[in-house]
Amino acid sequence: MEQSALRNVAPPRHAHRFFAYVAVVVGAGAMLLVGSLPGGFPASLPAAFWVLAGCAVVADTKPFVQVGRDDAMMAFPSVCFTFAIMLAFGFAPAVLVQLAAVAITAGWLRHTVWRAAFNAAQYFVSFAVADLILRGSHHVGWIVVAAVAWFVVNNLLVSTAVWLRFGQGWRARFARAVKTDALATGALLLSAPGLVAAAGVDVLLIPLALVTLYAVRRMTSLSAQRALEARRDPLTGLANRKGLERAVEQRLEEHAERAATRQTARRLALLLLDLDGFKQVNDSLGHRVGDRLLIEVSRRLSERADAEVARLGGDEFAIVVPHLSDVAEARVHAEKIMDALREPVLLDGLPIDVGGSVGVAVYPEHGTGFEELMQHADVAMYDAKGRGDNLAVYAPEADHNSPERLSLLADLRRALETPGDRGIALYYQPQVELATGDVVGLEALLRWHHPQRGLVDPEELIKVAEHSSVMRLLTFRLIDNAIDQLAAWGDRAGRVRVAVNVSVRDLHTGEIADRIEAKLRQTGIEPERLELEITESALMADPRRVLATLARLERLGIAIALDDFGTGYSSMLHLRRLPLREVKIDRSFVLGVATDPDDAAIVRSMIDLARALGLRIVAEGVEDERTWRMLVEAGCDLAQGWYFARPMPPDGLLDWLTRHRRSAVAHSA
Ligand code: C2E
Ligand code: CA
Ligand code: CA
Repeated sequence: MEQSALRNVAPPRHAHRFFAYVAVVVGAGAMLLVGSLPGGFPASLPAAFWVLAGCAVVADTKPFVQVGRDDAMMAFPSVCFTFAIMLAFGFAPAVLVQLAAVAITAGWLRHTVWRAAFNAAQYFVSFAVADLILRGSHHVGWIVVAAVAWFVVNNLLVSTAVWLRFGQGWRARFARAVKTDALATGALLLSAPGLVAAAGVDVLLIPLALVTLYAVRRMTSLSAQRALEARRDPLTGLANRKGLERAVEQRLEEHAERAATRQTARRLALLLLDLDGFKQVNDSLGHRVGDRLLIEVSRRLSERADAEVARLGGDEFAIVVPHLSDVAEARVHAEKIMDALREPVLLDGLPIDVGGSVGVAVYPEHGTGFEELMQHADVAMYDAKGRGDNLAVYAPEADHNSPERLSLLADLRRALETPGDRGIALYYQPQVELATGDVVGLEALLRWHHPQRGLVDPEELIKVAEHSSVMRLLTFRLIDNAIDQLAAWGDRAGRVRVAVNVSVRDLHTGEIADRIEAKLRQTGIEPERLELEITESALMADPRRVLATLARLERLGIAIALDDFGTGYSSMLHLRRLPLREVKIDRSFVLGVATDPDDAAIVRSMIDLARALGLRIVAEGVEDERTWRMLVEAGCDLAQGWYFARPMPPDGLLDWLTRHRRSAVAHSA
């Protein structure tokens, strides 16, 4: 076997060690060869030998490429013939034929002399070990042991060379090489005894093995091609997400190596680019034009960035910039790359502006692995968008928060990561149908009892968590909690639905939908019984991605409520564009209804508007009877507030529900 990484060029680093190693192996190989020649050769060799030798040489003119998870590796099929020669005629004839095969391949593939010498020598050493094992017996069991030893020694020698040449962890290299190479080389070696047996019957049976080799080569090259395609985006030819992940991981290994050797340019930046206005192009000019735009953008990006560019789907691109010396340099690079989009793209004579926003995350400051870097580049990109900027470098939580807030965040993370922690809980506040007085819904509200600080203000806590990756953990925990609670109540709470508050970032990926879908399936709770409350600010940062997630949730059958209605910037627009089922009038308006005629007028018109759009309307913050009466009269659907009940823990809620129903029955009686 041979790893494709073992190229002709001399190694840039560890040159001394590498060539010393090559020299030692070549020396050992030469000694083995020379030592075996006297007396190692039978006086005359039969036709079978010559046929096997001929096949060995022919076979290697077309080595096959095997693609493992991380490496491409060549397998040289001559070994099945040379191993057969060793079994039938001994070490010396086998290595001589192998030498011939290596020499011819070296000419064919233009290998340098040192490389060809190393290739030949590592074969000699492998054969010598196998030969030693077979000295005692040629029993099948020993042949298998010899083949395994041959394989292990061969991979050890080559992996070590590649490791000295490129670094990246000897053990990992060896393990990967063994995994990729085991099947092909194992099959080649173990077909050797069969060839020997066939030769005993008729030497002309031997070349038939070439047909099998040809078939195997075709199959491996097809699968190599497929593996390559799986990492490409068919439209632009760029790497896709999978390809990007691989590229980043390889670069990270290199960078870790640089860090170990204290070299300077050891930083790597991951840039995430999201185009602006691509959807409009697609919608107004059609998908074909949209595709051409993407192709042009990827061409410009690839030209500008001298590193991997990937398309992650839609109008999202990622760029890997290696070998940077600091974060500031990463920013400069990102700016340079963004310059590529400055000029409008001409499509059918129409100049189209393609701006975009880039988020930058830098290794190792902002993350040590692919996922973390992606996540943080994403956070940075949203920061950029949120600020109406076209570039942002990830600012770790420390930049947003005071030490006090940071320690709160750390405590929250710990609580969320501790299974069975009871400090984080949901309280439930009833939503009453105004027409009937029935409780039809509950809003789940976060309560966190901090071990030292006591009850933490949820609004404050969300503000801190929202800028960090803790938010995701928190929301997932609360969604699980709420659904589990519905299951635990069973019929006792009636068929109420539960509304969970989610924050901006929760909707940027579809993960939340996956999570909810899985949880609903696991508990058997119907999707209609769950509702999500989102705020308008959630939509400002990136309406398109949020919309995609909301659309998925809607398809799952989960209702979406627009929370704090009336406080956002562009409420009307959102009402039309979003898959909403419900709006919740912000309590700042509701609180004034009884005393302030303006508030009353605003609330009335909000109710009319929601009505006209076919949306359910909830008034929150109903604190007194006058407000309640006014809402009934204005035709509001549901109300929530202290007038009915404060948020309660699950057990308290069940008691309250029982009392509420009893009094409703008493009233109607
Ligand atoms: P919100 O979503 O608008 O929640 C309603 C808030 O109004 C709750 O405050 C509730 O206790 C309070 N409230 C209910 N009835 C009345 C009333 O009659 N009068 C007055 N003055 N207030 C009333 P809370 O529980 O302190 O939550 C505050 C905010 O914290 C929530 O506002 C929401 O933005 C956020 N929040 C709470 N729980 C969660 C959660 O689980 N996830 C997320 N993302 N945010 C949450
Ligand atoms: Ca809410
Ligand atoms: Ca609200």
